[in-house]
This record gives sequence, C-alpha cells and structure tokens, in this order.
Amino acid sequence: MITLDKTGEGGVVITKLDDLLNWARLTSLFPMGFGLACCAIEMMGAYSSGYDMDRFGIIPRASPRQSDVMIVAGTVTFKMADRIRRLYEQMPEPRYVVSMGSCSNCGGPYWEHGYHVVKGVDRIIPVDVYVPGCPPRPEALIGGFLKLQEIIRKETIRAPRAVQQIMAKRAQQGQPVADADKAPEIHS
Ligand code: SF4
Repeated sequence: MITLDKTGEGGVVITKLDDLLNWARLTSLFPMGFGLACCAIEMMGAYSSGYDMDRFGIIPRASPRQSDVMIVAGTVTFKMADRIRRLYEQMPEPRYVVSMGSCSNCGGPYWEHGYHVVKGVDRIIPVDVYVPGCPPRPEALIGGFLKLQEIIRKETIRAPRAVQQIMAKRAQQGQPVADADKAPEIHS
C-alpha cells in the first residue's frame, strides 16, 4: 500500500509486493558501463541524447557491484571470457544479461575461423535477451531492453532467479536436484 501525495490530494494504491518490486526494478535498470568491440559504439550511441535511454530509467554505472544489467557489446575473445565471467559474478542478484550483436550471440563473422573467439557468450554466462545485428542499431538495443522489462514484469520473489537458474542447469545436465535445493517441507 502506498500513499501518493504528488497531486496534493493524497490517495491510496493497493498492489501486490511482486508487482511493486518488479515495477521498481524494471524502471531503474543500471547497466554496467563496459564494451568489448564495435557494437559498444552503438551502445554508447543509445546512451547519447539522440536516443536518451535515461527516459527509461536506464543509467550506466561504473561498478559491477552497483549494476543489475550486463550488456555484452562486442566480440567475446577467450582472453576476455574470464574477465566477463568475473564481472558477472561480482554483480548482485537479481542480475540480467543482454547479448548485443552477432559476435556476442554466436561468434558472428568469427564463427568459422575465429580460433580466439567464444562462439556465444551464453557458453560462459546465462543470457536473458539476444539483440541481433552486426552491429545492432541503438533502436534495436532499446527494443532489447523493452523485452527485458517484459521478462522482469513476470518475476516473483517466491522463485528467485538464481535458484531457478541452478535448477534449470541441473535439469539440463540430467543431474538430480540436491535435497538442499528442494523447497522445505512444512510439518504441522
Ligand atoms: S557483431 Fe559486428 S559490429 Fe558487433 S562486435 Fe561483432 S563485428 Fe563488430
């Protein structure tokens, strides 16, 4: 329940906690300010006044500790893969990943002969939204964020993302789910 005094008349809004948290999260996404290759130029263009991602509440932060979105913009070389993974692990939950451009999505033009390129950043970290293109235009990146907002809108605190991801990974690998990961039984 929230009291609104903006109009000077006061008022009451009743909502679910999930909806309130999701609304706060999806309207204040803080991407980490880093780029890997040419796609990052388009990402910077999206932050500029012409496209103005601030109007969506999307404001880059300089530290992974204060970021909840990682935009992987550019070619993921094996040299950078460890760094990307480490940055991802330094971000607090809930955290999201937008893969921007063909290189990050699948290796791009380096797919066949790029011995030094990871063929998709989803081999090292989980990706929520893929933005296609080489490079994608700023409009496409904004479209990716709108898609991410749709995903966040459906989240619930009863099944946190981190737990969901661990369960999905184990199921994919055919591993049994450990007792510690199961929901606790309630005895009367
Ligand atoms: S997808 Fe194209 S524009 Fe983006 S980093 Fe790769 S080569 Fe550069």
